[in-house]
Amino acid sequence: MLETRGYRKWSLAIHGGAGVIARKALTIDQEAAYRAALGKVIELGGAVLAAGGQALDAVEAAVSAMEDDPLFNAGRGAVFTAEGRNELDASIMDGKTLMAGAVAGLTRIRHPVSLARAVMERSGHVMLIGEGAERFARTQGIEEVEPSFFFTERRWRSLEKYLTKKGWPIPQKPVGPKTNERPYLVHDEGKLGTVGAVALDAQGHLAAATSTGGTTGKRFGRVGDSPLIGAGCYAADGACAVSCTGDGEYFIRLSVARTIAARMEMRVTSLKNAVDAVVQHALTALGGEGGVIAVAPDGQIAWSYNTEGMYRARASSDGPTVIGLYASDS
Ligand code: ASP
Repeated sequence: MLETRGYRKWSLAIHGGAGVIARKALTIDQEAAYRAALGKVIELGGAVLAAGGQALDAVEAAVSAMEDDPLFNAGRGAVFTAEGRNELDASIMDGKTLMAGAVAGLTRIRHPVSLARAVMERSGHVMLIGEGAERFARTQGIEEVEPSFFFTERRWRSLEKYLTKKGWPIPQKPVGPKTNERPYLVHDEGKLGTVGAVALDAQGHLAAATSTGGTTGKRFGRVGDSPLIGAGCYAADGACAVSCTGDGEYFIRLSVARTIAARMEMRVTSLKNAVDAVVQHALTALGGEGGVIAVAPDGQIAWSYNTEGMYRARASSDGPTVIGLYASDS
């Protein structure tokens, strides 16, 4: 348990995507790498909250650490579009003010979640896309990198596999810089793998953030649920904070994050019932796959997914840190 230094209670949950995550699908090294990565991130975000920091700072810190880790489909390590590019989407929401920021179709921003936060706090808008978003980033001193920064061999191979199956042409392979990618970590968890965080801070405020490269082989400027407030991300102090991962096309149609929050606003259900109603029932009935993490104003954390597994972790001022990959983990 992280030290609380006399503050009121706080809670944090993170996810690193949902998909085909089963014991038989991962080697011991792969499993250990994911557990270590999730452990590092939950520790980092938890330290912000334990020191009395804001929920917004904790979710931004957690998500931006995962954006830098090539294990996850966000920032470096993002999946490729059918044209062989990395196009990044992210969102963040402040439960205290209902302010929100989102970005989509970025190709040069190292930490899309930080740009989403700058959009929320300093643009006067909620959502900026593509070149315009990157122009705004330049006025804000947000870190820019070459598009090749995001390249990983593993994601390129997933793209080749996907395009071959579809019978679509394979674009020329971009030359990426050397990453700290470990070859043994080539694990194809399907097309999922977004990252997200939800937090309650010691001042009683909630926040949520989500960041993704989207889905392998996406075309025509496709944008999923992750940067859409109410679909892949939502936070309201009077309800809960939610971050989603899964088939964006289904999460958008069900307004998954906002629907869970609406259930909590009615105050007739527990957080676990609210997330299960939307994921296990509505999402499954529509044929969508994925999962969510959520935190309530009283610090309760719940997650729900209808895939084999979800990379996830939780920590709080009054409970042990829990890291999970498979359905059999708690
Ligand atoms: N929700 C993301 C999207 O549709 C993908 C994912 O979570 O894996 O872009």
